[in-house]
Amino acid sequence: MACNRSSESMKPDEAPGWQGENHSNTSGIVRIFNAASCDAPTGDCCRNFVYGPLDSQTVPSAALPRLSHRTTMSDFSFRTSHDSGSARLGRFTTPHGVVETPAFMPVGTHGTIKGLSVEEVAAAGGQMILSNAYHLYLRPGDMMVRALGGLHAFTRWDGPMLTDSGGFQVFSLSSLRTVSEEGVVFQSHIDGSKHQYTPESVMRIERNIGADVIMQLDELIAGQAEFAASRAAMDRSLRWLDQCRVEFDRITRDGRGEAPLYEVPAGAPPMATVDIATDLVPPRQSLFPIIQGGVHPELRVASARGILERGDWDGIAIGGLSVGESKPDMYATLEVVDPVIPRRVPRYMMGVGFPDDLVEAVRRGVDLFDCVAPTRMGRNGTAFTHDGKVQIRKSTFRLDRRPLVDDCPCPCCTKYDRAYLRHLFVSEEMLGLRLLSLHNVTFLIHLMNTARAALHDGSFDTWSSNWLARYHARP
Ligand SMILES: [Zn+2]
Repeated sequence: MACNRSSESMKPDEAPGWQGENHSNTSGIVRIFNAASCDAPTGDCCRNFVYGPLDSQTVPSAALPRLSHRTTMSDFSFRTSHDSGSARLGRFTTPHGVVETPAFMPVGTHGTIKGLSVEEVAAAGGQMILSNAYHLYLRPGDMMVRALGGLHAFTRWDGPMLTDSGGFQVFSLSSLRTVSEEGVVFQSHIDGSKHQYTPESVMRIERNIGADVIMQLDELIAGQAEFAASRAAMDRSLRWLDQCRVEFDRITRDGRGEAPLYEVPAGAPPMATVDIATDLVPPRQSLFPIIQGGVHPELRVASARGILERGDWDGIAIGGLSVGESKPDMYATLEVVDPVIPRRVPRYMMGVGFPDDLVEAVRRGVDLFDCVAPTRMGRNGTAFTHDGKVQIRKSTFRLDRRPLVDDCPCPCCTKYDRAYLRHLFVSEEMLGLRLLSLHNVTFLIHLMNTARAALHDGSFDTWSSNWLARYHARP
């Protein structure tokens, strides 16, 4: 079974926090300049803030600077240079750099790829990484991320970034949420507090967080859902897309709502966003729509066409896959939408990250992937190899001096052997979890690098057929 979009950890972890964590949402936004206790001439460094309800972030447009000259469209582009059937070699340009496609995007659900530093992810060849708006909204809070300079500054990842809306996480809280046309009311998995997600609030959250690419709120259902339920969710996702786009455009035009102000502890450097006027300007972002429709081809086509009728997009995602449907159904869905999605936009297949699924999907025209599988499985002792998955705890590796994967460039494979990796896991040493996570992430990135090289030299069809045959050869 392929992986899904669920977070790496739906459990609360022991994230250290200071003021503003787990905001109560009980009062309106309050901005208090505590200039009396400030030594600085302007008093700007001393600020207090009480978090308010999400909807209070909406500020009347007349109160904000007009920003109609700004357009996100010119900040994003996609060019392809080599094709092989539906597969293509491409370059996706974002405000924070270029992503060579096809590419795997490591997932940092909470603003970090679990167990790995941004330096390690970059050294592994990571080009673009993901975070999750649901988790960052709950902790430390989207406004807190914004006050700390936005997601790039906060995480120290200076390259392209994407946030998923968190819709998947919300819909995963099956006993803790109610869905209506307005949106989703849910209980936080951290402290049980009640929250509402609407298409508009999700846009405000993602624009506060500040990733380059942000995703619409969509309604997710089980992979094998019947036609009527799939159609209802697909139609609703289109209506929510309309609302997302209106709010996205409003923020682009009018600016963001006023930011909260936090008291900076004595001696600490000031917040990154001390210039209020600059802070109101939204980051250059692109909104990606998501094709839904379950395993029903006509619904997938209708969803894709509905999205295209609504305008021009910098990229289009294919969602609702790897949520319980069969692999043949997953691949068939890609084949159904392949001729419908214009080839001039990158296609992002959400939440799919097993090696064979990546290669199969690239053959069917997909350019971007993300999944928590490589790090989650790495922590569980499972490693990707060209010959299928390997469980490193097995006793057969006790004296195995070979590297995990011969041609993998990661430190786990170039420096250590299987016997040592097995020892780390058997001894429950945290280095083992880190090394295997790093290997699995590197493996998928390297696999896509190899796919790009094969596309470039015209050998992709042969390479991908041979690679899949080897991957599935082991019983
Ligand atoms: Zn490796």
